[in-house]
Amino acid sequence: ATPKGDKEKGVNVQVILRCRPLSDDETKSNTPVVISCNERRREVAATQVIANKQIDRTFAFDKVFGPSSKQKDLFEQSISPIVYEVLEGYNCTIFAYGQTGTGKTYTMEGGGTRKTKNAELPTDAGVIPRSVRQIFDILEAQCAEYSMKVTFLELYNEEITDLLAPEEPKFPVLPVSEDKTKKPIALMEDGKGGVFVRGLEEEIVYSAGEIYKILDKGSAKRRTAETLLNKQSSRSHSIFSITIHIKELTHEGEEMIKIGKLNLVDLAGSENISRSGARDGRAREAGEINKSLLTLGRVINALVEHSGHVPYRDSKLTRLLRDSLGGKTKTCIIATISPSVYCLEETLSTLDYAHRAK
Ligand code: ADP
Ligand code: MG
Repeated sequence: ATPKGDKEKGVNVQVILRCRPLSDDETKSNTPVVISCNERRREVAATQVIANKQIDRTFAFDKVFGPSSKQKDLFEQSISPIVYEVLEGYNCTIFAYGQTGTGKTYTMEGGGTRKTKNAELPTDAGVIPRSVRQIFDILEAQCAEYSMKVTFLELYNEEITDLLAPEEPKFPVLPVSEDKTKKPIALMEDGKGGVFVRGLEEEIVYSAGEIYKILDKGSAKRRTAETLLNKQSSRSHSIFSITIHIKELTHEGEEMIKIGKLNLVDLAGSENISRSGARDGRAREAGEINKSLLTLGRVINALVEHSGHVPYRDSKLTRLLRDSLGGKTKTCIIATISPSVYCLEETLSTLDYAHRAK
């Protein structure tokens, strides 16, 4: 669809593409690069050699960020406008989609730097800390009365794990029935077409600096769960949700609470979609991962095409995000790719998936 067509239909799905740089190891071993990014033209070209013929395939996106793009630029150009929508009381969702190792987590959470210098975020800070920072900065400048709550969950095999639930106690100090760590996590219908997660831990955030404490808590939990269940985070989706309540006065002087929500989703590696796990005996798992990723693709397609039926109910991921996809919401998909020749097959499938979402 052309941008003009999208506007006429009132669809708010933006697809941006980011290509990571070669890693040091890839550079040392002279890995050939097959991707070229034209940021100005918002195009990405993939060069393929088939039967000695060079074939260039070009894909256009709403925005393209090349290998030397900075975290700050991606945030300011593509995410910051969405954060403003959230502060106006809208629900918005940002997805990172791509093959494992292409920079989904780097883009969403950031690089390894955790130290904040004079309250400045590190230069490698990703979308999550930058969004939190921007929300605080704007609301503080407005002297608004507000509160911010976050939740952090993981979806694996259509099962929800609360990444902010209190740690398991070392000794069984409580009878099992009172043990808070064993809280059942279930997706419940709210009777109004929406869903909520029962028993999910909500953490109140008082300053932007706290965000790394929360991210680290979530990552630590993710690692423990991984070793316990012998799984990899590349096969799970994580959803970091920020809810803001802002107190406002209407023209009549009445108090009103404006609520906005921002979901930041680090999706499972997209290689799971193309290489079915059926071969190596992980059929069910591959099927379930496929279910959420494929349903997400169908939901976004249905929203963009304005076809009547949107299959939200077909996966937990889309059920969870239902109130933030479609209608008066904004959705942004950040598709991440590697420039390496060895990833070309997966890169082409990511470019196709992301391009279809437009
Ligand atoms: P994914 O979450 O998609 O599996 P990661 O975010 O873990 O991938 O990225 C893989 C590696 O590449 C990490 O070491 C990360 O720091 C690095 N990386 C990814 N994207 C970039 C980028 N745009 N600039 C610099 N390094 C990056
Ligand atoms: Mg990751």
